[in-house]
Amino acid sequence: MSRTTCDLLVVGAGPTGLYASFYAGFRGLSTAVVDTLPEAGGQVTAMYPEKLIYDVAGFPAVRGRELVTGLVAQAARYEPTYLLGEQAATLTDTDDGFEVGLADGGTVVTRAVLVTGGLGTFTPRPLPTGAGWAGRGLVHFIPSMDVHADQDVVVVGGGDSAFDWALALHPVARSVTLVHRRAKFRAHAGTVDAVKALGVELVTDAQVADFISDTDGHLVGLDVLVDGATRTLPAQAVVAALGFTADLGPITEWGLDIDHRQITVDSTMRTARDRVYAAGDICTYPGKVNLIATGFGEAATAVNNIAVALDPDAHLFPGHSSAE
Ligand SMILES: Cc1cc2nc3c(=O)[nH]c(=O)nc-3n(C[C@H](O)[C@H](O)[C@H](O)COP(=O)(O)OP(=O)(O)OC[C@H]3O[C@@H](n4cnc5c(N)ncnc54)[C@H](O)[C@@H]3O)c2cc1C
Repeated sequence: MSRTTCDLLVVGAGPTGLYASFYAGFRGLSTAVVDTLPEAGGQVTAMYPEKLIYDVAGFPAVRGRELVTGLVAQAARYEPTYLLGEQAATLTDTDDGFEVGLADGGTVVTRAVLVTGGLGTFTPRPLPTGAGWAGRGLVHFIPSMDVHADQDVVVVGGGDSAFDWALALHPVARSVTLVHRRAKFRAHAGTVDAVKALGVELVTDAQVADFISDTDGHLVGLDVLVDGATRTLPAQAVVAALGFTADLGPITEWGLDIDHRQITVDSTMRTARDRVYAAGDICTYPGKVNLIATGFGEAATAVNNIAVALDPDAHLFPGHSSAE
C-alpha cells in the first residue's frame, strides 16, 4: 500500500486545490493532492471542459480545459505529488499532524490538511446497460480528444455536457451520434442548435439496449431501441454523459462543522479542527460565493495561514512572487 509524506495534503484537485498546491510550493511546503477522479480539474474537467469561462481574472475568456492545464503547469514548478483516482477517507491525529487513510488502503502522513473537495466526491451516473464496459470503450468524460480520432463515437445524454462533448468530438472523431431517451433536451438551446448545424445525428426517444463486441471483445457498436425497433449504431467509444452525483462522503466524519453540505471556516479558512483548513466550493462563511475566483483567493488565504500554523516564526504575508 502506498505511503506518502508531505507538509500539506490538499484534498481535491479542482481549481482551488490545484492553485493551493502551487501556493503551498511557493510557501516552501511539500504537497500532495488527492482526488477521487482520475484527472485533475474537479467540476471543470468533469462537467464543462470545453466551455469558455469569462470571469477568471486575467482571462477575457478561457476554455475550461485550458484553465486546468494552466493550473497544473503553474503548480508543477513545485512538484506536488498527485494521488489521482484515490479518495481521502479517514483523518487521524498524529503527534505532528495527521494520518489520512485513502479508500484503497494507502496512507498520507501530513502536518496539515486543506480540504478543497468542492461538492464532494463525484460519481458518474451509470448507464445501466454499460455494466462491464468501463475502460473498454465506455467513458464518462474525455480527458483527451485525441484518443477518439477516427472513431465512431456515440454520446448518450441530453444535457449540456452531452452536447459539449458532441461539439468537441465532431472535428476529431470519424462520426458522432447523440442518443437521448427523450425528444427534449436540458442543454442550452444555442448549444443544441450548434450541434444540429454540424450535422451530428440526434437519435431521440431512444434507449440504449446493448453494447456489441467483435470476437476479440472490442466494442464495435451499440444497439438502441427506437419506437420498439432495434437500430445498431457503429461505435468504438460510448460517452455516457448522464451527469454526476456528488456526496461529501467520509469528510462528514472528520469532526468538522458542516452546514448544508459545506464546511464552516473562519476568516483564516480554518475549520473547527486545528491544522485542518478548507477552501473553494466546499467551505462556507457569511457572504460566501461559490466561484473559481473566490476559490483562488481562499486557497491563498488558507495556505498562508497554514504556513504560519506550521511555523509560528513564518510571516503571514508571503512576499511578492514577482520579487523572486
Ligand atoms: C456547468 C458549470 C459551469 C460553471 N461555470 C462557472 C463559471 O463560468 N465561472 C465560475 O467561476 N464558476 C463556474 N462554475 C463553478 C466552478 O466550477 C466551481 O466553483 C469550481 O469548480 C469550484 O472549485 P473547487 O476546486 O472548489 O471544487 P471542485 O471543482 O468541485 O473540485 C473538488 C474536487 O474534490 C474531489 N473530492 C471531493 N471529496 C474528495 C475526497 N474525500 N477525496 C478525494 N477527492 C475528493 C472531487 O472529486 C473534485 O474533483 C461552474 C460549474 C458548473 C457545474
